[in-house]
Amino acid sequence: MTDPMVAVEGLTRTYRTGGIEVPALRGASFSVDPGRLVAIKGRSGSGKTTLLNLIGGLDTPDGGTVHVNGRDVGALPEDDLLALRRDDIGFVFQSHGLISVLSAAENVEVPLRLVRTPPAERDERVRVLLSLVGLADHAAQRPHELSGGQRQRVAIARALANRPRLLLADEPTGQLDSETASAIMPLLRALVASEGVTVLVATHDETLLTEADRVLHLEDGLITEPQAPTPA
Ligand code: ADP
Ligand code: MG
Repeated sequence: MTDPMVAVEGLTRTYRTGGIEVPALRGASFSVDPGRLVAIKGRSGSGKTTLLNLIGGLDTPDGGTVHVNGRDVGALPEDDLLALRRDDIGFVFQSHGLISVLSAAENVEVPLRLVRTPPAERDERVRVLLSLVGLADHAAQRPHELSGGQRQRVAIARALANRPRLLLADEPTGQLDSETASAIMPLLRALVASEGVTVLVATHDETLLTEADRVLHLEDGLITEPQAPTPA
């Protein structure tokens, strides 16, 4: 048996604002094997962002545990958590979050500079990543000179720069038209194959689910997995 890339066990998280308690997660459990493309489906407000933030160590649960690549995210000292986020986990958000004054190539380069990748290796990695996401000819363009779908593809390339084991994508197609959106899942599928990365993508868009190896449902703060139809 392979060790899971992500193991979530009994995860709870309740937001408390102005005396009101909003239980976003009520004991979610699931695990994901390495090299899979897994979709987390849930309507708006079902806790998808909360779940991905906890898996990525951006937030702390009230109860339960998250293991990423065998490490207990909640128990890591701050330095190790920073290293985990920098080296092992890539994030893609609904809004691309690119730096507007930098070109596509320079945006992808940022995480490589953070870990002091030597210039020649950096240039090569940026070239490979931009061609992986189909933007080899757009390296010099700034975000405002790219379409929404192209910007999101730059964001995906940037998230993969330091070869993370795990890519967390939070509604990456949320701001794209449906035609542009439909190209993102096949791209993630191709990246699973070429980069060996494990992808967890949260979405409320039904049309994106067909590309996924597995679809998990997030409902009432719990994860359920619909049974695959039994072959006749
Ligand atoms: P989704 O990403 O599926 O739309 P979220 O994880 O953003 O869901 O939110 C889950 C629930 O938690 C919602 O009811 C939301 O209103 C609430 N929530 C999310 N973030 C906060 C916050 N920072 N403070 C208070 N409530 C929050
Ligand atoms: Mg969300």
